[in-house]
Amino acid sequence: MIDSGLAQISRALADGKVSSTELTQDYLKRIAAENGDLNAYITVCEELALSQAKAADARRSKGEAGDFTGIPIAHKDLFCTQGIRTSCGSRMLDNFIAPYNATVVERFNAAGAVTLGKTNMDEFAMGSSNETSFYGPVKNPWDRSRVPGGSSGGSAAAVAARLCAGATATDTGGSIRQPASFTNITGLKPTYGRVSRWGMVAFASSLDQAGTMTQSAEDAALMLNVMAGLDTRDSTCSDVPAEDYTAALDRPLDGLKIGIPVQHFSEGLEPAVEQAIRDAIAEYEKMGATVREVSLDNSHLSVSAYYVIAPAEASANLSRYDGVRYGYRCDNPVDLEDMYKRTRSEGFGAEVKRRIMVGTYALSAGYYDAYYIKAQKIRRLIKNDFQRAFGEVDVIMGPTSPHTAFPIGSKNDDPVKMYLEDIYTIAVNLAGLPGISVPAGMVNGLPVGLQIVGRDFAEAQLLNVAHKFQQVTDWHTQAPAK
Ligand code: GLN
Repeated sequence: MIDSGLAQISRALADGKVSSTELTQDYLKRIAAENGDLNAYITVCEELALSQAKAADARRSKGEAGDFTGIPIAHKDLFCTQGIRTSCGSRMLDNFIAPYNATVVERFNAAGAVTLGKTNMDEFAMGSSNETSFYGPVKNPWDRSRVPGGSSGGSAAAVAARLCAGATATDTGGSIRQPASFTNITGLKPTYGRVSRWGMVAFASSLDQAGTMTQSAEDAALMLNVMAGLDTRDSTCSDVPAEDYTAALDRPLDGLKIGIPVQHFSEGLEPAVEQAIRDAIAEYEKMGATVREVSLDNSHLSVSAYYVIAPAEASANLSRYDGVRYGYRCDNPVDLEDMYKRTRSEGFGAEVKRRIMVGTYALSAGYYDAYYIKAQKIRRLIKNDFQRAFGEVDVIMGPTSPHTAFPIGSKNDDPVKMYLEDIYTIAVNLAGLPGISVPAGMVNGLPVGLQIVGRDFAEAQLLNVAHKFQQVTDWHTQAPAK
């Protein structure tokens, strides 16, 4: 049963074919066997999971279960979990036991979900390969010499290797969609503000958004039903009413207008990946959709603008790690300044320090207008490009990544190469739009993801468009060899 998708598991629980306790035990067994090598989990919560499973089974026997009661999932290790370490992939928070639950975690708990554990990630969600984690790289279950993508590499690998039924994750510049693409799963980044950020360790607050990693779009809809909606503890959380995201999954796609951005089919895109994406789009034409080219004129500026804005926000957000309040503190500081310096030098890894320095520089008097304000203006132009395109089309499609998963160690000595990983995903965050990556083919045995981008709060439509593709293809059902 634990190879099945979340929706199937939900139905099996409802039909009494399996108990949450059985499922949880099976996942824990597989995690014990596989995680030593894959490194997808930083923390496994065996005791908590079994007690939540028992409670879920009791709730079901009283006839009080919902769709999510008893489903075992994992949380990216930047969602605060009360009483459980929340490390954010950093030495800085290696000893941090969260005193409260993030809203997302709280909502899953209230729905009766089971928490199997906390998944590995790039340090403070900065990275595209999961190699910046203090806990070591995660292996891609499709080829263990390759990266699973990042920063949500642990959640991606855990779902792909069937070490949980679904996982939460976050996406600041591509961290849900790119790892989903590399591991053959479905990754949904909702509209900025669709899901509460309260209790999520902050990286770049105007870009960070929580979403889902699952086998299918139907599974993602079930997770989003739990997560989405207003939370007054996050002032940027939207009051646009959340929907029942499963309701429109089967809507026909006749007349759907698909836009293909010319900029996402140009130099740098691997030809075999391009072919897989064009074949996927042809499937949509068979379902009655029409396709036309659109232009996102400023998309070539998105990576540069992001690498000013995200580090600027990170430098402010990460100032709280000072050795005083919580987290790592250096040994035997001689005075306050020594404590600050050594705490931050020893607690943060190289990539995090690089971002803090870039961000502090970009925000400093004299450079603020030249870098930060300029980047914000580019951000507006990028948003305008999307708005113009959505005047002509309903959704925008293209590759999630220009290539398939790359070998561990092949890019981490060149930050710019790593930054270019998010070439097709970052603009979506800058514009605050929802995007989903859907399994769409294989190249030399490695997965390819199709990115679908929608208008603000069009999650139900994106899930519908993704689900219909998954009804006529079976890429998303393919799992890596055990
Ligand atoms: N790869 C991008 C970065 O390193 C995006 C990360 C993310 O979405 N969290 O900033």
